[in-house]
This record gives sequence, C-alpha cells and structure tokens, in this order.
Amino acid sequence: THDQVLNFGAGPAKIPIEVLQTAQSELLNYDNTGMSVMELSHRGKTFGKILADAKQNLTKLLNIPDNYEILFMQGGGTTQFSAIVYNLLAAKGKPDAPVDYCVSGSWSQKASEEAKRLGANVNIVFNTKKSTGAYTSVPPQSEWKLSGSDAAYVYYCDNETVHGVEFNSIPDVDSSVPLVADMSSNILSRPFDVSKFGVIYAGAQKNIGPSGVTIVIIRKDLLTPLKSAAEIPASGLVTPQLLDFKTLADNDSLYNTPPTFAIYMSGLVFKHMLEKGGVEAYTEANDRKARKVYQVIDNSKIYKAPVATEARSRMNIPFRIYPETLEAEFLKGAEARNMVQLKGHRSVGGIRASIYNAMGEDGVDALVAYMKEFEGQHQ
Ligand code: PMP
Repeated sequence: THDQVLNFGAGPAKIPIEVLQTAQSELLNYDNTGMSVMELSHRGKTFGKILADAKQNLTKLLNIPDNYEILFMQGGGTTQFSAIVYNLLAAKGKPDAPVDYCVSGSWSQKASEEAKRLGANVNIVFNTKKSTGAYTSVPPQSEWKLSGSDAAYVYYCDNETVHGVEFNSIPDVDSSVPLVADMSSNILSRPFDVSKFGVIYAGAQKNIGPSGVTIVIIRKDLLTPLKSAAEIPASGLVTPQLLDFKTLADNDSLYNTPPTFAIYMSGLVFKHMLEKGGVEAYTEANDRKARKVYQVIDNSKIYKAPVATEARSRMNIPFRIYPETLEAEFLKGAEARNMVQLKGHRSVGGIRASIYNAMGEDGVDALVAYMKEFEGQHQ
C-alpha cells in the first residue's frame, strides 16, 4: 500500500509506482555494491552497465537505427535550445545559413528566441500566435514558409506542454535538411520513425523519469568535430565543449560526470515500459485517456478546450471553466479528492491535466468523474 495522490503535474511529473518501489528497494545497496547508485563512480563497471542497459532499452523502445547516437546530457530542454544552434550550424559549415523555426507554442517560441540571441539567421516558418492570435493550432504545411535546402535545420516542438498543441504527423521537409524535434513532453507516448529526424531531444522529467537528464538522439553524420583554438574564426559561433554533441558521443556521455541517478531512474522506466509491452501498448491507452477527457469537455457547457481538434495534445490537456471564477473552486475540489497539480501554467491560467504514460486509466477515470460531478453542481 502507498499513500500517493493522483499527480496531473506537467513536469516534474508522475513516475510509475513500480519504478519508485524498485528504486526504493535498491536505494541503500545497489546490486550488492553496498552503496547507493548515487554513490557509484560514473566510470565504474556497475554504472557502465546501467548506462549501457538504458541505451539498449531506449533503442528497443523507439527502434533507433544504428546510425543514431543516444546522449545523456544535463541542462534540461532549455540547454538544447542553445546546443541545437551551435551543433547544427557547425554541421552545416555555414554560420549564416537560415535556421527554420516552426512556432506553435511557448517552448518553440523560446527556442527561436535563443537562436536569434546567439546570432543565427532565424526564419520563422510559422507563428500561430502572430497569424491567429493564439497558440491553438498547427497550420497546414501548404502555408509554411520553409527555406528549402539552404536551411541548416528545421526545428519544431512536437508537443507544446503549456498550450497543449501536438503535431499529428511528422513535418515533411527537404530530405537534405535535418529535422529537429523537441519531444520533451511526448517522447515514448507513440511510435514514430526515428530515421526522419536529424536530432530528437527530450528532458526526462515529463514522460520518462526525474529531472536532471536530457535524452538526445542524433544522426551520426551530424556529429561535427569541435574546432580547435587555432581554427576559431574571429566572429561566429563556437560551440562550448559541454554542449558539443560529438564530445558527448565520443565519450559515451561520460566526458564529465553525468547525472547518474537520473540516468538510472530513466533506465528503470525504459525497462518497465518494455515489460508492459513497449510504446505500442502505451499509445492505445494514451489515445483512450485523452479522448475521455476531451469528450467531457466537448459535451459540457462550462468547460472549453481552446486547441483545434486535430492539434490537441494527448499528453497535456489545457481547458478553461466558465465563468472563470469557478476555476479556483474546481482546483480546491480536485485537491480534496487527491487530484493535484491541475493548475494551468502561470502564463496561460486555467486548468491543465497532464496525463503522461505513467498516469493510469483509473486516474483519468477519476478526473473525468469529478469533472462531470462538478459540472452537475454548477450548471
Ligand atoms: N521543451 C518543452 C516542450 C518543455 O515542456 C519544457 C519544460 N517544461 C522545456 C522544453 C524546457 O525544459 P527544461 O525545464 O528542462 O529546461
């Protein structure tokens, strides 16, 4: 037995109870080492196996082809906003090449701002807030302004955690241009074709494990040798060593001390997912869970989901309650029923239910029942 609540937080988010229990049972004495994973040397054999197993299991879960490298990095998704710019402009070999950004929510917006700040030649493929007034849709590709084969990369965020906008297909870009995806909040939620991407990255703290580690999956031909001091141009981008994908790849993510415990926890989640039937088993449940919540919203007079049907996220479901004064009462009632972290992001307000892989269908059923009950009391 345990006294856990139903955690609908967007991240750090719920971790499967079985994984937490395994970590608990191994906490003081990992694999007969007489110490915790947290105390193991990152260069020792025991941690080496944890790292290798995590890579192997993630490879299985996502069917990652041989010509891709998996990196475990620090600094969260935000560090990748910068790392992508440095690494992919270096791979292109043309510091002034256009970099294409699809802006469908606040995270892709932040990524595009960072690219600008670093001096990249940013081309906005679309920005739905500018074109429609809000981040609530993904425009059809016929309306996108791509730079074509000149671009160093095309960047998009597959699932916008704050606005609840998710792409329902992989963008179709020039095959010579690396496609870069921020999958921080929907990686492992559905199967997809890794070979369509140049780089995929995801902070672990939403659909994987604890914060502190970021998974980067990169096509090996994009790994570019770091410039030596003698080669550094008078102006232009010079990749900081620890943001350099090739440095990480050449050292199996052990160039410096990695976030060992977060890697261990992520590895436990990968193993747990494989035992439960892999990504395919989760995708069906995820579709069903999301459909249940949207159905209550769409059949309601007080709830409203702002996102266009075809761009609705299966992971993060933002909605409003009208009149808005009811929202505080809704959150209070939810807490009384042990449903927590349902408050929308501070930038948008309202309610947001994050229902990642680790949120069971029973949790979603409890939320849906409460939403119906609340509406019944407030028509
Ligand atoms: N991208 C997405 C889609 C996110 O949801 C977040 C975090 N909420 C980030 C990037 C930034 O991640 P971090 O806080 O790990 O820097």
